[in-house]
Amino acid sequence: MQPDSRTLTILGATGSIGRSTLDVVARHPHRYRVFALSAHRQAGALAGLCVRHAPRYAVVGDAAAADSVRAQLAAAGSATEVLVGEQALADIAAHPQVDTVMAAIVGAAGLTPAIAAARAGKRILLANKESLVMAGEVFLRACSDGGAAVLPIDSEHNAIFQCLPAGQRTGAAAPGVRRILLTASGGPFRRASAAEMSQATPEQACAHPNWSMGRKISVDSATMMNKGLELIEASYLFGLPEARLGVLVHPQSIVHSMVEYEDGSMLAQLGNPDMRTPIAHALAHPERIDSGVAPLSLAEIGRLDFEAPDLQRFPCLGLAHDALRAGGAAPCALNAANEVAVGAFLDRALRFTDIARVAEAVLQAIGSRAAGGDVDEVLEIDREARSVARGQLLRCAA
Ligand code: NAD
Ligand code: MG
Repeated sequence: MQPDSRTLTILGATGSIGRSTLDVVARHPHRYRVFALSAHRQAGALAGLCVRHAPRYAVVGDAAAADSVRAQLAAAGSATEVLVGEQALADIAAHPQVDTVMAAIVGAAGLTPAIAAARAGKRILLANKESLVMAGEVFLRACSDGGAAVLPIDSEHNAIFQCLPAGQRTGAAAPGVRRILLTASGGPFRRASAAEMSQATPEQACAHPNWSMGRKISVDSATMMNKGLELIEASYLFGLPEARLGVLVHPQSIVHSMVEYEDGSMLAQLGNPDMRTPIAHALAHPERIDSGVAPLSLAEIGRLDFEAPDLQRFPCLGLAHDALRAGGAAPCALNAANEVAVGAFLDRALRFTDIARVAEAVLQAIGSRAAGGDVDEVLEIDREARSVARGQLLRCAA
């Protein structure tokens, strides 16, 4: 082991980002040691990862999953200890032997362990954008109080981070920056009509043209709510108001985002659409390591296209702009409403185009309240927004 090797907890290890992280880590066994892995209920997948990466701890969401993982690990002769529940998640995120935490749980469930990592001063590789959307100020305050560093994993934010001056502080605007432009692929429905979208199935919504991702973020990409959540994420990470953040549809997903400077320069980061690039960047920062991603061949790609987003067909993006401008409880309420609506859509209990209706109704009901001042207040807003959203689901179904 090298003296500068890093010890990692991966929250959400069985997910798309978790597995890509383990792929990069396995390419550099002397640099990274896996200390703990978590999954919600995928006992078989988690047990397999434990056998392969030999962490000290594995954490799951409930007792049944724990029994199953324990039985599989015992049969494989693994020494990994299995723990259960939210406190265990926070413990592996804040453990004194860990220096780096990959926060890759999907949704609001990722907030509490991310805050635990922040308070414990970890180097946080932040994939869980929902933490920032729900609780931007609370999360950044926990990072500065705990002395934690945040390295963005979301490909757009990682690209922007790479285009900003080295050493730029999280949450503060970099000098000389005029605007930040987030690129968006446009998702599977970029060319679909509103009528076609109203009939969209979960399978169609999850068939992303360029990226392979978990189901929730795939639906968010199809509605473009993902880009909306990313605008809010960017506003907190890079300290810019809504008016200085823009979205540009770029169907090839090669330019991952751009920073425009006062002098007219625009810096962009390019690469093949593969999350192992931002993951490897953040793992090794400020060094560079192999990620396993194929080199980019611009000659083969031939052309890069850009167009303005269509807010008529993608109202979720407009709602996110509104929520960011409004501030207060609006981003948290929007995120919660979206999670409920996307869950219902994936369960075939809500039409694709009703996701935006549910989100809009929740913003109208509670979006003008003040932001939560601490984690408990944030979670209270999240609960209330979910309850309003569930009521709205019934109205859409009626
Ligand atoms: P995924 O659905 O593939 O995996 C989610 C992981 O979280 C799994 O390990 C699952 O077991 C765990 N999990 C789910 N619910 C949980 C709960 N209630 N409590 C504890 N653990 C739970 O998701 P993903 O696509 O890997 O996305 C993870 C995060 O990264 C999301 O916040 C997403 O927005 C963000 N992100 C993903 C991508 C991508 O390419 N997949 C890109 C950018 C950002
Ligand atoms: Mg992204």
